[in-house]
Amino acid sequence: MVLPVLPVRTRGILPILLKWMLMPLELDIRKKPMDVKVRVSSGEGVDVVWSDAHASHYDFAYLRDQCPCAHCNDERQKKSSKSGPAPASLLPMYKPKVTARNATPVGNYAIQIEFSDGHASGIFSFGVLREICPCPACRQEFGAIVVSAGT
Ligand SMILES: [Zn+2]
Ligand SMILES: [Zn+2]
Repeated sequence: MVLPVLPVRTRGILPILLKWMLMPLELDIRKKPMDVKVRVSSGEGVDVVWSDAHASHYDFAYLRDQCPCAHCNDERQKKSSKSGPAPASLLPMYKPKVTARNATPVGNYAIQIEFSDGHASGIFSFGVLREICPCPACRQEFGAIVVSAGT
């Protein structure tokens, strides 16, 4: 792409434009879904293809762990502040595998999932979903997400 040579007067808006382009949330195409499949009946989980062509797959059990509602955020913080030495593994130990009973779109920005353990207050916005994409590339890009909150 060739940048047009701008008259001096217009150049002032460039930093603003740049700032706007770098703004997260809705303007971030990485967080805009092109295709969303929620496989409740088969229990397979959620598949999202993003506007940047990246595809994410989420287990319902994983989503349950990452539930963004205030209650679960609280629980996670308690857990992470209480836990002593790092656990040897992050495998689920005692919980039966959580699936979903139901999933409903919320506007066009989120999905609300009712999990098999009865918990249904988690509303997963697509921004959150992209940030918790479990693939190594996204983990690196978006950092170690919600669980590590504690600053
Ligand atoms: Zn929750
Ligand atoms: Zn990813």
